[in-house]
Amino acid sequence: MMSTMPSSLRRTFAGLGVACVLTLSVGAQTKIVAPKNNYAVQDDVKLGREAAAEVTKELPMLNDQRLEDYVERIGRTLANAIPPEFQHSEFRYTFDMVNQKEINAFALPGGPMFLNRGMIEAAKAEGEVAGVMAHELSHVALRHGTAQATKGQKFQIGSVLGQIAGAIVGGTAGSIISQGTQFGLGAAFLKYSREYESQADILGAQILARAGYDPRQMANMFKTIESEGGGSGPEWLSSHPNPGNRYEAINREAGTLRVQGNANTGQFQEVQARLRGMSPAYTAEQIAKGQAKSNPQSSGTSTARTSVNVPAPSSQYRTSSPFSFMRVSLPSNWSEVSGGDTGITYAPEGGYRADSGKLEGVTHGFQVGVASKGSGNLQQDTEQLVSAFAQSNPQLRRQEGYSRETIGGRNGVRTTLTNQSDITGQTEVISLATTRLNDGRMLFLVGVAPQRDAGTYNDVFKRVRQSLQLSDR
Ligand SMILES: [Zn+2]
Repeated sequence: MMSTMPSSLRRTFAGLGVACVLTLSVGAQTKIVAPKNNYAVQDDVKLGREAAAEVTKELPMLNDQRLEDYVERIGRTLANAIPPEFQHSEFRYTFDMVNQKEINAFALPGGPMFLNRGMIEAAKAEGEVAGVMAHELSHVALRHGTAQATKGQKFQIGSVLGQIAGAIVGGTAGSIISQGTQFGLGAAFLKYSREYESQADILGAQILARAGYDPRQMANMFKTIESEGGGSGPEWLSSHPNPGNRYEAINREAGTLRVQGNANTGQFQEVQARLRGMSPAYTAEQIAKGQAKSNPQSSGTSTARTSVNVPAPSSQYRTSSPFSFMRVSLPSNWSEVSGGDTGITYAPEGGYRADSGKLEGVTHGFQVGVASKGSGNLQQDTEQLVSAFAQSNPQLRRQEGYSRETIGGRNGVRTTLTNQSDITGQTEVISLATTRLNDGRMLFLVGVAPQRDAGTYNDVFKRVRQSLQLSDR
């Protein structure tokens, strides 16, 4: 028919075609505004970190280095493509795989993301996996979890953390998290609203395009999820309800976006083949009955992961006052992770483990504490303290004798010990120094770092000790 069309009309059609293209490129991408949020960015970080510790304890983690590297690579590309106005330097995006069959994925405030093996198995292309991940990242970047809590704010932050985390996660993990806290109100308290779902779809599309994936793949994945849903529908849809016209809205937004480059790793087929070769994933029911176990970390993995996840000590220092009579300078990216009458610990993000707000252990950090009055002989009292530490750390060994060091302008002693970390299983180096307070009690300073990083950290611990000022009378 085109061939019989008069040439003048053909020109008009060609002209219309150009006009259409122009209109599409003029139609700008949707501008997103993060919802009102009364919580501090640090609250997101704290909440996500605590919930993530619970998740890794309660859900069977896949711990397959090849697959972890794959999701990490996609996730990193996407996280780097989050528009600058939604980047939070405090957030750290991590990507872990859960050995679970059901199609699900969830991301916690502040950045930890968990992807069920079933999600990757069900995807038809890498872009579909990236689509779900970009949607999840968008909820985190827009701080939807704490924004939702802001709307119904009735609780103090400390008490609401567990229920928010449980609710955001939803499903199996969610009920585990809310059971794990004394304020478990159930997972239904918070699921994302339709408004937030729309935002995450749109921002997700924008992130995909910026990263080098076709945003339409996100819409395709949602269709895949729906079609595999079965009777009650998969968990993912219950916590991420369709805001209405979901596919059309995503595809409309995609029309305003230019895909920048091609992020495809080319490894999707190989990854799916690897998954098919593994023993079957656990079902939610098996997990709920306690029949599922995390795969052991393959050797070398935990070392690499730990060092990747803990940022180096900042060269900027800030002053803190752990006790009224003391001032000390610490790397500015370390924060106080526990308080108490006898000790205060400073650690970087990822350098410690906490469970429901209770500090369980530190892999990188510095503790300041006060011990009761002893014999009066500083070295003997320090030796007593080492014996007390050794009670709960059977692998603790002193590596050298005691040397003198001036601490806060007073006579002090210092020594180095090694221990096997409860958390990583790796050898850690402990730098211990003590001095006497004017009331006779002993002040102790403990620096902890993995042995492989001991060089860097010893310099930091020394600088911290040298900064110490005491004003007790
Ligand atoms: Zn969502």
